[in-house]
Amino acid sequence: MNYKNLAAQALTAALKVRSRAKAGLVSPVCPYDVCQELGISVKFVDVNMEGVYVREPKPRIVLSALRPLARRNFTCGHELGHHVFGHGSNLDLLIKDREDENYNSPEEFLADSFASSLLLPALGVRKAFASRSWDAASASPAQMYTVACNFGVGYTTLVNHLTYSLGQISRTRANTLLRSSPQTVREGILEQASSDTLTIIDRQWLASTADVEVGALLLLPPDALPSNDTLLPVEDSSLPTLFRASRPGVVRVCTPDNSWAIFVRIMPFQFRGLARYRHLEADEDD
Ligand SMILES: [Zn+2]
Repeated sequence: MNYKNLAAQALTAALKVRSRAKAGLVSPVCPYDVCQELGISVKFVDVNMEGVYVREPKPRIVLSALRPLARRNFTCGHELGHHVFGHGSNLDLLIKDREDENYNSPEEFLADSFASSLLLPALGVRKAFASRSWDAASASPAQMYTVACNFGVGYTTLVNHLTYSLGQISRTRANTLLRSSPQTVREGILEQASSDTLTIIDRQWLASTADVEVGALLLLPPDALPSNDTLLPVEDSSLPTLFRASRPGVVRVCTPDNSWAIFVRIMPFQFRGLARYRHLEADEDD
């Protein structure tokens, strides 16, 4: 298998899709929004697997609602890769972070490469580190975690992409970073043990939206506040701008002088149903 050639094909295809979805070359993208733009329906189901791509009669993607959100995002990119490359219908029971060029099929390598190139554009990743005055080559686990949050991918996915696709960090550095699990990194930031997911949103956030699930923790920039109680402050934390997503919906978060703002989109925990309905606020009568 010629990995270099396949990776180049995946990159070209990802840039084309970004262009069709009017996403530019820098910003993080939401893979469900991209699929919607391309007319591919995405559905979340409570089946224990990663994802399915169905080609006929109409292209659609089915994802497991039981996997962490960042994982679902990557799998959506992976299944979209199968679509873009004209692969047949496909069931992915388990997608591992296997950037070690140890794939048994070119189709799976293409789909994975496509997903990382789509979600982690080289220019965007470079800007994410530069705008925070961080150097990817020597970034700390907490800094890696912050950038991963910004692109909606997992910590390990970002570290592997920087190592194997972008060549910005050495394998030795990657091994050191991967010795810290995402949970350890999270707990270090939260300064306490926690099994909750955490999204770090800072002023350098490179998107106009952030996507989380009900129950997730969000660390907001120092003086930023949500405009309603969709996000509730976490009382027993040493971090003054730690919030928890309390219910589905979309909430604007901004600084008091309005010099910085984003929309946080909250979906139910392990939401089942069509992706396009994921942020609808629950009906009071339900
Ligand atoms: Zn696959």
